[in-house]
Amino acid sequence: MKNKPAGIYIHIPFCSSKCSYCNFYSIVNPSSSVIHNYNTCLCDEITRTLREYSKSDYNISSVYLGGGTPNILPLNELEKLIRHLEDKFDLSLNEIKEVTIEVNPNLSDLNYFKKLKDLGFNRISVGVQSLNNGILKLMGRKHTKEDVFNCLDYLSTAGFTNISTDLMFNYPTQTEEDVLDAIKTLSHYPINHFSVYSLSVEPKTILAKQLENKKIKLNREDNERKIYYHINSTLKHLGFNHYEISNYAKLGYESRQNNLYWKQGRYFGFGPAASSFLGNTRIDRPANLKAYMNKDPIPEENIFSLSERELKEEFMFLGLRRLEGINDSDYQKRYNSSFFTDFRDPINRLLENKTISINQDNIKLTPLGLDFADRVSLEFLL
Ligand code: SF4
Repeated sequence: MKNKPAGIYIHIPFCSSKCSYCNFYSIVNPSSSVIHNYNTCLCDEITRTLREYSKSDYNISSVYLGGGTPNILPLNELEKLIRHLEDKFDLSLNEIKEVTIEVNPNLSDLNYFKKLKDLGFNRISVGVQSLNNGILKLMGRKHTKEDVFNCLDYLSTAGFTNISTDLMFNYPTQTEEDVLDAIKTLSHYPINHFSVYSLSVEPKTILAKQLENKKIKLNREDNERKIYYHINSTLKHLGFNHYEISNYAKLGYESRQNNLYWKQGRYFGFGPAASSFLGNTRIDRPANLKAYMNKDPIPEENIFSLSERELKEEFMFLGLRRLEGINDSDYQKRYNSSFFTDFRDPINRLLENKTISINQDNIKLTPLGLDFADRVSLEFLL
């Protein structure tokens, strides 16, 4: 009997160029033979993994192709991957409620998008980031705002009705109007989900170097929260529910795959830098294409058998990312104890500093807690 719901994440570690702020694992401009060999390795990994499980153990509820830039894959490679996945997991993508692929607007093609629909993709996540061509250039993005509009028009024509867009705010020189105008413009398209991230400067990125060499200056930090509040109110006004710190959705369009991560669901990961979490074990594959293609064994330090305490901590800090918070009844079902007992001290401290609120068996972040979400998370770690 298929009794365990799970998701599948597949990482496509290739991009047309490297964006200045990005620390995701990706190789720039791979040759078609590298893409072909990589795809073969992905299919092998799926086969090897499925040898350990019975096909009927898992009920796949969502599939996500992320990157990198998944739409860099030629259609024949994509089709091969999807058919292999369907064969090994004994499923049809057309039967799954959420099958997402991330697309980069610089590679928009109507026929490609139509084929994605035929293959069973029913949700598209478009990496927009900004609609200001100057900012896009600074970010090192390959696309322009005109490419974004073309991309969204093509997706509509291809029949996609479940579209998410990623936006960034507080990038150097980017203004509040910039992001709010982008949201308003995009809301005229059939978009039902927004992910809006504040810039985070990651080590070893092009941006980190530019800052170090004083080629670029960060925006004033004290504006960041104000912009966040205005993003929240703008999206609310446009009918989007703020359901996670950085995510907003129209009714019924929350990301199933991301909810799986935040609710400690099971997921398979395939490809370098992809993680999987099945039961109590998390595997973080190394971000190393060569090692992956050589089929090097995953180093032991990348395989984590989580203790019950660690699982409980994750339940708390991942679950609290969702604005509706966490319920003790769910915790009790899973862990046979109460979080009010297991985490009495941190809960009391957070109540005292007004970053969480309690309503019967539910705990959630307060508006103040949203501003200090990272610090709230730390409270639950021993
Ligand atoms: S397209 Fe996405 S994954 Fe690729 S470099 Fe840019 S932000 Fe990173």
